[in-house]
Formats: sequence, structure tokens, C-alpha cells
Amino acid sequence: MNLADSESLARRLLAAGYSEAPDLERADIAVLNTCVVRQASEEKVYSKLHELRSWKSPERTIALTGCLVGKEGNTLLSRFPHLDAVVPIGDYDPFLRDLEARYDWAQGEPLPAAGRTLVSHYINVIQGCDHNCTFCIVPKVRGREVHRPMAQVVKECRQAVQEGAREVILLGQNVDDYHDPATGAGLAALVSAVSEIEALLRVRFMTSHPQDLEPELLRVMAANPKVAHELQLPVQSGDDLILRRMARGYQMRHYLAIVNEARGLMPDLGLYTDVIVGFPGESEEAFLNTRRLLQEVEFDVVHLAQYSPRPGTHAGEKWLDDVPAEEKRRRINDLLQLQREIAARRSARWLGRTAEVLIEGSDQLGRPYGRNRQGKRVTVLRSRVQPGELVTVSVTEATPGHLAGPRAC
Ligand code: SF4
Repeated sequence: MNLADSESLARRLLAAGYSEAPDLERADIAVLNTCVVRQASEEKVYSKLHELRSWKSPERTIALTGCLVGKEGNTLLSRFPHLDAVVPIGDYDPFLRDLEARYDWAQGEPLPAAGRTLVSHYINVIQGCDHNCTFCIVPKVRGREVHRPMAQVVKECRQAVQEGAREVILLGQNVDDYHDPATGAGLAALVSAVSEIEALLRVRFMTSHPQDLEPELLRVMAANPKVAHELQLPVQSGDDLILRRMARGYQMRHYLAIVNEARGLMPDLGLYTDVIVGFPGESEEAFLNTRRLLQEVEFDVVHLAQYSPRPGTHAGEKWLDDVPAEEKRRRINDLLQLQREIAARRSARWLGRTAEVLIEGSDQLGRPYGRNRQGKRVTVLRSRVQPGELVTVSVTEATPGHLAGPRAC
């Protein structure tokens, strides 16, 4: 979501005549896009803001956008006097007008291009979220859901493809809830409509919600060769009692039924999830249920987080953070170790097989890389390929999070 927001603001700035600086030292304007999903993310913003104090000068502008604006608003300006502007997500016009008044265009010097990659176009199709998970600050900082008209989304994607994008990533905090405001057509219809754009090679979407995922979407994924076989389906806990306390709106048997149906249709599905350990009231038994879930489902990737209470959330304000920090660490380390072994097995299944890889760019060693249809990163060895190409790779190397191999003959 943050990448999409950054991209959207960058596009507005580029359209207004600004250019992207190759590094901070040659920039006039720094924009921090912020995340507050965890306390650690928020701390990172404050530390970056402190760092920027020595960079700041009267000619330079520091602006801050993203979820911290929704949470703290204009109080940030008084707390950080070197901060020039707070920019609400999506409301960029006043900021652009202020910049225009501030900078003398005649004095600008052309900068070398910073090398943006436009292979993947991120597009927000829903802003906000209508759920109220008890641990989550998102509905408070991003508000209730706002759905973009399907025709507008398709038009923007078509334009991105004309400009060179080969992949579109449809985004929403809960993308499965998407519906066209006029017709009510859902995500499956949107994915199908976007996939019809000529020269577009791949459509991805994230993040799904087990309560809202429509079966039709799985059928479209399985049948449409342009749609990724990748599902980002956060489970958060493998314990029904904790799921109820989290107000997730589903139980384990429902989640497992979706996984079974999806894998029945797409045996090669890439399955990604999020898990929180140490949620208030998480007993050893509840934790072991989550552990068993990881063993049973064998996800490709599990984004693990220790619970941290967020002010403004139900759990943060009403419930005691009763799992001691040391115990949270033990639980997360246990799951990290378990998941490393599972991910290594999942990756090893690719050895000797071919993967269809959309090239995104080059790594620090100059080797092309991209993602396969299942969302896993793949490095192309000893082959010359260009960003935007869809190539077949013979997988000869596999680590838990990564595959590699030469282009297949
Ligand atoms: S569905 Fe996701 S974004 Fe919405 S409240 Fe729950 S965790 Fe937060």
C-alpha cells in the first residue's frame, strides 16, 4: 500500500515537472511515507525525522505522508519544527501548490535519472478498511473503505501498460472486499477486466481476507493464464478463541476450507500469510494451535510479528498485554525456525522444474531477477534478459526465500 501511495505521489510530482533525485544529497525535497502498523515502524519514522535534521536547510523541504498523518495529524509540525508539511494520503494538491510557490523553477538544474522501474504498476483499488480487528490501527488512520470505479482502475492500468508496465498489482487493505461502486462487480470481475489489457503479462492482487474471499476469484486465478497463482491470506492465529478475540470473523475450519479449495484448483499455489504471536490471552495451547497450523498448511512465507499494543485499538486500550516479552520472543523464534524449515522444503520442490519469471530488474551483482507466477523471487543466472520480459528459468538453486537458475533453452 505504501509503495502504491509513494508511486502515486511520485507520479504527481513528475507530472508537475519535478525529477527524481538519485540520492538525498542532490534532492531539494524529501518526502517520508510512513507506516504505523507496529510501534517499531512508528519509531523508525521518528528516527528518520531526527536524521533529516542535519540535512534540512532553508532551501530544502521535508514533508511527511502516510498513516502517521492519520494518527498524529498536525501535531507533528509542532513536535518537529524542521518538518515543513504533513500531507494526508491521496490529498496532494495543496502540497503541490505550496511547493510551486516555494521553488523558483528557473534555477533548477537537470539531474540524472534515478532509474525507476516501471515493470510493476501498483494501484490502490480500495482505500481504508471496514473491518475492526481488535489489534489493528488501519481503520482509524486510513478510514472506512472507499472503492474506485472499475472503469477508472482499468483506464489507469491501460495507461501504465502503455508506459511500459507489464504487471499490475491491485491493492487494498482488504482487496477481496472490492466492488465497483456503480455495478457492484467484485474483485474477480476486476481481475478479469484488467487481464484483458493487451501487452499486460501478469495481474497480482493483495491483501485477501478469509471472510471476504469469493470462490469465483479462485476460479479466475486458476483459469486465467495472466493471473498470478499467489494468495496473500493473513490468518493471524491458528486458534479459534484468539481469532474471536481478534474479531477476525472466521474460524480455523473456514480458513482451511479456503486453502484446500485453492490448492485443489491450483496445486502450485504460492501461499503467504501473517501471524501475530503473544496476542492478549494467547495461552500455550493457543500458541501450539498456531504452530500446528503452520505445520499442516506449509505456507511459502509467514510474516511473523510479536503483538505490540497500539493506542487507539480495542486490544491496546482494553486488554492487558499479558504475554511477557520473553515468552513472545520464545514463541516467535520457535515459529521462525519451524517456518525456515518449511520454506526450505517448499522452495526445494522447484529444483529441476521450470519457472515462468517476469523480469523486474537487476540485483547488486547485475544479475536479472523477477518473480515467478507463484510470487517467489527468482534470479536468472548466466543469461541476458531485460526488465519486462517473461522468461522460462530452469531452477537449479533454491533457498527458503529465493530460487535461481539459467534461462531454459
Ligand atoms: S482486515 Fe486488515 S486492515 Fe482491516 S482491520 Fe483487520 S487487520 Fe486491519
